[in-house]
This record gives sequence, structure tokens and C-alpha cells, in this order.
Amino acid sequence: MATTESSSDAGSIDESEIAEASPNSRTVSALTEVMTVMDSVGRARNADDLFLVNSSSGSEYLVDTRTGSCECPWKQYNPGKECKHEKRVAFATGERPIPQWVDDKALDDQFGMHVDGEPRKAVADGGVMQVRFNDGGVTDPKEDPLAVTSDDEPRTKRAKREDIDVSFLAKPGRYEVHSASESRYEVDVLEETCSCPDTAERCKHRRRVEIEIEAKRVPRPDGKLPDA
Ligand SMILES: [Zn+2]
Ligand SMILES: [Zn+2]
Repeated sequence: MATTESSSDAGSIDESEIAEASPNSRTVSALTEVMTVMDSVGRARNADDLFLVNSSSGSEYLVDTRTGSCECPWKQYNPGKECKHEKRVAFATGERPIPQWVDDKALDDQFGMHVDGEPRKAVADGGVMQVRFNDGGVTDPKEDPLAVTSDDEPRTKRAKREDIDVSFLAKPGRYEVHSASESRYEVDVLEETCSCPDTAERCKHRRRVEIEIEAKRVPRPDGKLPDA
């Protein structure tokens, strides 16, 4: 016999959500298909409402969240309805909580990687919580200093995820940072400066250098080798 308590969860899900949960729905596609959402590159640069969505098939569509438009073919035939790319943007930026019924393991790993937002997940009491993602199965930050947690700020995530080489340059506290884009910058941890153009308080290079020092992967600022 079902108790009222065991059925209360189901009761909190409205019918439209159940309909959306069926296989092939655009919401499921938005959550599980491999897509990359980017908010600060190409045509989406310098516009808060514009996002570029890259699909695994190599197509790229511009989503405008202000006007509710997307360039994909489906949207052209279904104006007024939300396509999977628009849904994905809403989920990836945290603008819309990820439904409670979604299995975290089914979520595409690319979630939230290239946007300055944080996916949120709806919970039973109607609140939301931050969603934790892991990269390649290494989840414990104690074991891997570059493991990303949902508590990380967007810049810290980039500092961890991007292919950045840090090497000690000179004491005290000067490090050279070599990014995947072949750029070289100099970080001074004592002066708290970086030679990159990022005007943020702490750019990703400074964050990465601090992480590497903390993890004893590079010499300390005084030039000494890290304690074993
Ligand atoms: Zn679309
Ligand atoms: Zn920098």
C-alpha cells in the first residue's frame, strides 16, 4: 500500500515534466547529447544573451536567449517552441535547474564547461543544489589538485581544466605560464600580477600557479623544492 509520503515526490512533478521525460524529448537531448555551449567566443563574444552551441556532429548554432531564437533547422519549423539547444543553454548556465529525475551519470560531461554559469539541480523539496561533475572519474580534489568541483568559480575551473604548463622562472615568486594557445605569461605570486590581458582580479594563470604551488607540483616561491 502506497503511503502519502512515498507518493509525494511524484506529486511534485508536474505533468509537462513527465511528458518531457520520455525518450527523444528535447529536454533529454539537451541534457545528454554531447554539445558544447560557449558564451565568449566568435559571434557570441561580448554579448550576454548570445551563446554558440556546437553539436557532436560539428554543427554550430547561435542561440539568442533574449529573443528566444536558434539557428538550427528544427527551430525554423517550430518557431515559438524551445529547441534542444536553447534548453541546453538554459541548463548549462544554471538559468534553469536540471530536473530532479535526471541521472547525473547520464548528463553530458561538457556541461557548464565553457560558460560563466553553474548548472543547478532541482531537489525534492523544490530547492536547487549545485551539480557536481567529474572529469574522467577522478573526483577527489585531495587526490587530484586539478579536479574541478562545483564550488569552483568559473575562472578557477578554467585554470584547472585548461592545458596550462607552469614552470618556475626566478625567485622570489616568478613563474612562467605556457597555455595551450601557445601564449606565454609571467605570473608573480608575491606582486600578485600576471602579464596576460585579463583584467579580472585573479586571472586563470594566477589561479593555476597557486594550485600548482599548493599541490607541490612546482618549486615554492622562494625557489626551494617543495617538501616531499
Ligand atoms: Zn536549436
Ligand atoms: Zn593571466
